[in-house]
Amino acid sequence: MPPLPSAVTVVEVGPRDGLQNEADVVTTDTKVAFIDALSASGLSRIEVTAFVSPRWVPQMADAAEVCARRARRPGVVYSALVPNRAGLDRAVAAGVDEVASFAAASESFSRKNINQSIDESLAHYAEVCRHATSLGLPVRGDLSTCFGCPYEGAVAPAAVARVSAALLAMGVREVVISDAIGVAQPGQIGPVLDAVTRTVPLSQVALHLHDTRGMAAANVLAGLHYGVTTFDSAAGGLGGCPFAPGASGNLATEELVYLLHGLGIHTGVSLDAVAAASRVLGGALGRPLPSRYLRDTEGRA
Ligand code: MG
Repeated sequence: MPPLPSAVTVVEVGPRDGLQNEADVVTTDTKVAFIDALSASGLSRIEVTAFVSPRWVPQMADAAEVCARRARRPGVVYSALVPNRAGLDRAVAAGVDEVASFAAASESFSRKNINQSIDESLAHYAEVCRHATSLGLPVRGDLSTCFGCPYEGAVAPAAVARVSAALLAMGVREVVISDAIGVAQPGQIGPVLDAVTRTVPLSQVALHLHDTRGMAAANVLAGLHYGVTTFDSAAGGLGGCPFAPGASGNLATEELVYLLHGLGIHTGVSLDAVAAASRVLGGALGRPLPSRYLRDTEGRA
């Protein structure tokens, strides 16, 4: 096996991907305090909110206010999710450093999730990319259902590679190979990355993994052995299904950092500081967060 990378960038997505999935709307004060605590933990990239329609996603209705009120720590890249040109314009006005937009590798998921075919969604993506890059704003290309689809089942690595190549051609800085439904297994990581990296340089590939079936750490390890150096995660393991209390969603930042540091891989992140930020948030939400690292160290930290 090739040697593990010596350093990894952790992209914190809890304030967006996590809090967007909360059943109850979280107050702006709580969000800003959470983001500021994460900024102070050594995380260098944080997805703070989404500029989406408040009609569809009321949890993110305060996106501009969150951006205006959060501390701006030097060296931290603050990004926001934008689905289209209107969202991009709002994100630019709010002064974000980077935007993320999303597509799916599975045709059925794309149609059910955003009511567009993959190619229709790519046309919108291209418009967002064109305008963002003309402003010097880097774009993350988030690509979901790379390891399986809730409607179609298996997704061919070639399908993931096709959309990844299209995103790269549009000028995205990074393609995020995402398992938002949490079905990926370690044996899939290599074949999917083999297909994707035929076009996309490995240094521009990130992995976004969920722990729904307990496979996230094993998948991270497979990604590390492949040479991936950018991983998404959410503090506290936020982003579980709001209707299944305690269910695991996004890979928890505490568990990712614990794994990486245990392997001697540098992250620049203070595990204690992230755990403390998650504990404060859990207190505000009034429930324990899914992260097992957090639960196991409760009262001992
Ligand atoms: Mg996610």
